[in-house]
Amino acid sequence: MTMKTMDSVQAKYEELAALDKKHFMHPTSSFKQQQEKGPGFIFTEGKGIYLKDVRGKQVIDALSSLWNVNIGHGREELAEAAMEQMKKLAFSSAFATNSHEPGIRLAEKVAEMTPGDLAMTFFTSGGSDANDTAFKTARYYWKLKGKPEKKKIISRQKSYHGVSVGASSATGLPAFRDFPSLAPDFYYVDSSIEALKEMIEREGAETIAAYIAEPVQGSGGVNLPPENYFKDIREICDQNDILFIADEVINGFGRTGKNFGIENFGVVPDMMVIAKGISSGYAPIGGMVISEPLKNELIELTEGVYMHGYTYSAHPMCCAVALKNLEIIEEENLIENVRNMGAELQKGFNWLADRHEEIGNIRGIGLLGAVEILKDKETNTRFSEPVSGKVVEEALNHGLLARSIVYEGQDTLAFAPPFCINKEEVDTIISIIDQSLTEVKKKGIK
Ligand code: PMP
Repeated sequence: MTMKTMDSVQAKYEELAALDKKHFMHPTSSFKQQQEKGPGFIFTEGKGIYLKDVRGKQVIDALSSLWNVNIGHGREELAEAAMEQMKKLAFSSAFATNSHEPGIRLAEKVAEMTPGDLAMTFFTSGGSDANDTAFKTARYYWKLKGKPEKKKIISRQKSYHGVSVGASSATGLPAFRDFPSLAPDFYYVDSSIEALKEMIEREGAETIAAYIAEPVQGSGGVNLPPENYFKDIREICDQNDILFIADEVINGFGRTGKNFGIENFGVVPDMMVIAKGISSGYAPIGGMVISEPLKNELIELTEGVYMHGYTYSAHPMCCAVALKNLEIIEEENLIENVRNMGAELQKGFNWLADRHEEIGNIRGIGLLGAVEILKDKETNTRFSEPVSGKVVEEALNHGLLARSIVYEGQDTLAFAPPFCINKEEVDTIISIIDQSLTEVKKKGIK
């Protein structure tokens, strides 16, 4: 860049930064930090695994933004799919008996991709409202069956299900529940089978509507379940007439190397919650998928109207974009690449652990991975001041946008790069983490 363009680029940043502070309330952010620091990046464009900001700085998007830009940035086919749909029909309602082709085709595609007898999808704008829909539908179902007292929802500690009142009430991570008033009838168990059994015993199966879990926990730190965990869960839910909801918002549509996370564990849920990867973030869309038996029972039992629908349920443009996204994932065998590059990522983590005694608790499946930074691996002791945030800060200087998870006593680096990543790019991520951790250690950690 010439001096002149550098000046004009900086001027543009400053103009936008001032307006940002004045008017733009950010999701999951600190009011104070925004005013003190202003925006870090003001992104302007993306291509593949890279993002560029208004000052011309390019970074690797190692978390696919919010674990969602799965096919990678800058795919023009999705822009074309959106344009084509919007030119023809930007919006029409799907309420009651109204319908449209993108909604129908996408619902068919989801039924084809999901395991077992999952058959019918209710579309939302994202994951939180999809979870609310699942909780509401589970309770509605039990009410229709003459068991309105079956209304409690059990979720796991460390789970993340979203930020609407219902979804944050189901979220096990305390930081997301620190509000004066949440919804009633939500209960949390740790990730053991015993804990669930005890909870059912204590509360009574006749009061419990559903159990919800992310097959592989995302925001809680990329946590894999113990072996056979979900087989046991499925059995317990069946024995106690409890619906099993799999929250596939992060896992779904290939992230774990299979279409859906739960397929790694050999069971089929009664309901599935989807979002993020269905459109790779190119359009806001999520949904709840229900099984064929559940669908049939609802048909049989319902007399009136199920009074639940968002204006943007099955938004035609979002459906068209999602459909195109799923076609690309299939045509380009991207899920196979997830498996291959996931293996490279794990190799990279092991290489890091050989070089840094602080790296431990390596976890992952497909292109969903994490490492922890530990003072003592033997005893699982963390440093008194979390290190992962400092590594992420340092990594930014080297062109890597990574994610640090420090709540719940963790000190974790999480990765979920786009499915289009290649080996060289995986190696670059690992080498930047290596460099960044080395530099942070040089400055001193305690
Ligand atoms: N469930 C899970 C497992 C998630 O990871 C998220 C988002 N990170 C949500 C639900 C909420 O989705 P949204 O942010 O689209 O409302």
